[in-house]
Amino acid sequence: MSLSSDLKSLDEMKKVLEDLTLNVKQVQDDLLEEILAHNANTEYLQRFLHGRSDKELFKKNVPIVTYKDVEPYIERVANGEPSDVISAYPITRFTFSSGTSGGKRKLLPFNMKYLENIIFISKLHSFVICRHINDAEQGKVLRFDFIKPESTTPSGLPAVPVSTNVLKSDYFRNLASKHHTSPNEITFCGDSKQSMYCHLLSGLVQRKDVVSVSAAFASALVRAIDFLKEYWKELCSNIRLGQVSEWIEDISCRNCVSEILGGPNPELANLIEKECNQISWEGIITRLWPKTKFIECIVTGQMTQYISTLEFYSNKLPIICMNYLSSETALGINLNPLCKPQDVSYTFMPNMAYFEFLLVDEVNKVEIIVDLVDVKLGCYYEALVTSFTGLYRYRMEDVLLVTGFYNNAPQFRFIHRNDVALSIDVETTTEEELLKAVANGKMVLESSDLTLTDFTWYADISTVPGHYVLYWELKAKKKSTILELDEKLLTECCCTVEETFDFLYRKFRSKDGLIGALEIRVVQPGTFDSVMNFFISEGSSLVQYKTPICMRSIHALAILEDKVFARFFSDKPPPF
Ligand code: AMP
Repeated sequence: MSLSSDLKSLDEMKKVLEDLTLNVKQVQDDLLEEILAHNANTEYLQRFLHGRSDKELFKKNVPIVTYKDVEPYIERVANGEPSDVISAYPITRFTFSSGTSGGKRKLLPFNMKYLENIIFISKLHSFVICRHINDAEQGKVLRFDFIKPESTTPSGLPAVPVSTNVLKSDYFRNLASKHHTSPNEITFCGDSKQSMYCHLLSGLVQRKDVVSVSAAFASALVRAIDFLKEYWKELCSNIRLGQVSEWIEDISCRNCVSEILGGPNPELANLIEKECNQISWEGIITRLWPKTKFIECIVTGQMTQYISTLEFYSNKLPIICMNYLSSETALGINLNPLCKPQDVSYTFMPNMAYFEFLLVDEVNKVEIIVDLVDVKLGCYYEALVTSFTGLYRYRMEDVLLVTGFYNNAPQFRFIHRNDVALSIDVETTTEEELLKAVANGKMVLESSDLTLTDFTWYADISTVPGHYVLYWELKAKKKSTILELDEKLLTECCCTVEETFDFLYRKFRSKDGLIGALEIRVVQPGTFDSVMNFFISEGSSLVQYKTPICMRSIHALAILEDKVFARFFSDKPPPF
């Protein structure tokens, strides 16, 4: 988070926001004109526009594409052909998406325009926070950021997750060094375990300065607390003795954390020990970092599953969910940061990219595409992006609902990814339905000592008929108790989960016998960490990582299967 001092002035930022949101149409038209004027002679656009750059021709001739369509062009640049295959702006770096939101990992161009946009969003973000939270700048942020070591494309251009490109830029380095409890050396360590340990150590030592605890996604914050559960004794011992554990081998990281530690501090170690030793970890964030005013991370979309855990750990501090960003482009920002997580909507910023919207009309299946200013309240759309990074009418594959307007800028609620769905026969179960089903199943656990820590779905067609499989990692609510699985309870979970699904699923399952009984496979504690480590070893970044809602990777499935220790099935078909 940048602070008010980094903005030219709050008044100036307010004016920028008002101008942009009042003049959405003009800003969008100007932006499209600029993108087309610059890029009309790229090989890609030349095919459709023949060197011209007018909006009508663009709308008429340039096709709507998915990543698969543009991948060959991007690959050509990555393999050494000039940037102008797709972009007039030089592509000097690439980013890859986490590959865990939807299908596979995507390689995408990165350039200064992308970075400028993210810097703009970051400034706006700070402005919005300063406006809503008193004295947000009077302290430090305990922020869990991580980078991935650089890899290169076949032509030698650097390729890293977009978060790494952003964090390594001068602007964000400078910001972090001023306002975060972790010096950049900790974030840049490259080994996520050492990084995580040092983020916590540094944050614990500076506990009285911390005003917010944050990460990009809620899952990373929950992981940080889980890590603390495992390592608090060692962290306390380091603080007591004033010495960093031997296994922190990254020399820059080690040096800067040693400096922060100063010398032995038994008093602080005792205090942390006392808090962490309590049976319940309820409110642990506010107990360890008593001046924390808010938690900040994304809790929309698939991250909603972590809201209750974060509320538990933070004694229901406000959870601020600010940005809607992707490797392709920045999209929007939440201008009402103190709203409930369930009510978060993102106001699209018209200067980020040229946005069009494909109406999601399941019933009539007609293809209606409208401009940003023409979206209608209450309708569902998928955003199409035309950017300065070589993407033209590119489908984002996220389904969004229009919930309101700030001046003339539409606000969207994130609903789900379009490309995530489970299917055995011709039924398709969307990400939203899968999340809802898990939430219902989770409610059945409420009365027990069990709590759900992570999950993923899989359509198992190796059985006849095929069936939906839900991998669950569970833990005991009370730290001291052993995980006991009650067959009746977990069977009830299976039935409740199934009952959530739509008519077609229930018909196929109950009447036609085309879908078999839903199964919950309980995996050993730590399994989802192993799955995450696998994705990270494949190039995902810890910052952008989200457990896939549906698992498609054969390797990740093998990891899950290896750790299954109990299986439960629904024992009756759902009513239909
Ligand atoms: P990546 O490019 O790997 O960072 O993933 C981008 C994707 O993450 C987006 O297309 C969304 O599906 C998801 N995402 C990003 N920001 C949000 C948000 N604020 N709420 C829900 N999902 C998000």
